[in-house]
Amino acid sequence: MRVLIAGGGVAALEAMLALRALAADRVSVVLVAPDREFVYRPLAVAEPFRLGEVRTFPLDRLADAAGARVLHDAVVSVDPDRHTVRTESDDELAYDALILALGARPRTAVPGATTFAGPSSTGAFGELLDAAVGGSVDSIVFAVPAGATWPLPLYELALLTGADFADRGTRGVELAVVTPEEAPLALFGNEASNAIRELLAIRGIALRTQTTPVEAGAGTLAVVPKEEIRAGRVVALPRLEGPRLPGIWHDLNGFVPTDEHGRVPSEVDVYAAGDMTLFPLKQGGIATQQADAAAASIAAAAGAEVEAAPFRPVLRGLLLTGMVPRFLRAEPGTAVSAVDTEPLWWPPGKIVGRYLAPFLAERLGLPETPAGREGVRVEVALDAQTAAPQVGSPA
Ligand SMILES: Cc1cc2nc3c(=O)[nH]c(=O)nc-3n(C[C@H](O)[C@H](O)[C@H](O)COP(=O)(O)OP(=O)(O)OC[C@H]3O[C@@H](n4cnc5c(N)ncnc54)[C@H](O)[C@@H]3O)c2cc1C
Repeated sequence: MRVLIAGGGVAALEAMLALRALAADRVSVVLVAPDREFVYRPLAVAEPFRLGEVRTFPLDRLADAAGARVLHDAVVSVDPDRHTVRTESDDELAYDALILALGARPRTAVPGATTFAGPSSTGAFGELLDAAVGGSVDSIVFAVPAGATWPLPLYELALLTGADFADRGTRGVELAVVTPEEAPLALFGNEASNAIRELLAIRGIALRTQTTPVEAGAGTLAVVPKEEIRAGRVVALPRLEGPRLPGIWHDLNGFVPTDEHGRVPSEVDVYAAGDMTLFPLKQGGIATQQADAAAASIAAAAGAEVEAAPFRPVLRGLLLTGMVPRFLRAEPGTAVSAVDTEPLWWPPGKIVGRYLAPFLAERLGLPETPAGREGVRVEVALDAQTAAPQVGSPA
């Protein structure tokens, strides 16, 4: 079975690895992606503080290790009836099954703010930090905009800024988080919210919940309910838009619906996973779980003896705090949640994927068994992927 995977990010790589594990040579896998490298984005929040760096991995070598091939091109349209995709260099590629994993596009959500969208934003954020340390910024507001479904990076930036200023002896810069959430990181449940409140309080970071940031002006942040909050500078998360791929139905924001096996309901043999889907939580761990469901379904269709396990979301977040990191776990739609300073999954990385996390840990040349869990806290704080890995399923 010819499986074409459009994309070279988290969902694409997880799907590639899951197909190799579940269907072996029943499938041939080709990735179509413009990227030369896979960029591990979550550590962008640590880079401005020199606590970790954004890791990159050569995409060809990752695919090679999984028995797949990469075509460095971009998909520009799909013809589901003919089971073909067209690429930017005007090739037509045929597939038996297609997995769309094109991610989402960050857009400015709070005009006038510094938008933190990942590795491309670390320079601007670093300059803001320097300006504050130099005395030309007296307050920074960290703004979670409406519709930001993965607010964790903003809390990390606020907490790491607080820790950095304390370390550097920077005084007199007020820090605050403004968010429409009912409670901080409410998606992880009450225990997590209480833990975040406590961490913010320790760093002297003010918190305004149920308040939606709208626009940053000269020295202020306009919010709803209507008010102007004092804000020397504002750092905001982006809102996300889907890729709007011609040939595939999408909603007004460009996102594609999927069923619990990752299938795009309106098309035959077309699957989608990750940030480009309509599922409201745009997060790497969720992207890998969607990719696993799609891969299992394709493997079963290819004749492999596997159960096509449906997508049942489990949310895992590793929060860098500037102190001991916190491991957060929740099952959306249930009361199941946990917060711990010890790893709740293994390897204890920031993007949890059944196949991707151990695969990347192995590429980093790390030992196969945990060297001693005492080391984990410090290592995770420095670089979430360098703690010793163990090949196996996440908890
Ligand atoms: C600052 C930051 C911190 C984060 N922290 C965490 C965290 O702690 N934990 C976590 O789980 N998640 C985190 N995330 C979210 C996580 O990175 C995303 O949810 C995840 O990368 C989504 O995976 P994806 O495969 O859907 O998209 P992506 O990883 O964005 O991959 C999309 C791929 O599609 C390719 N592509 C795009 N258009 C085309 C086209 N037309 N044809 C072919 N290829 C195309 C792109 O080049 C890319 O390779 C964070 C994100 C950011 C920005």
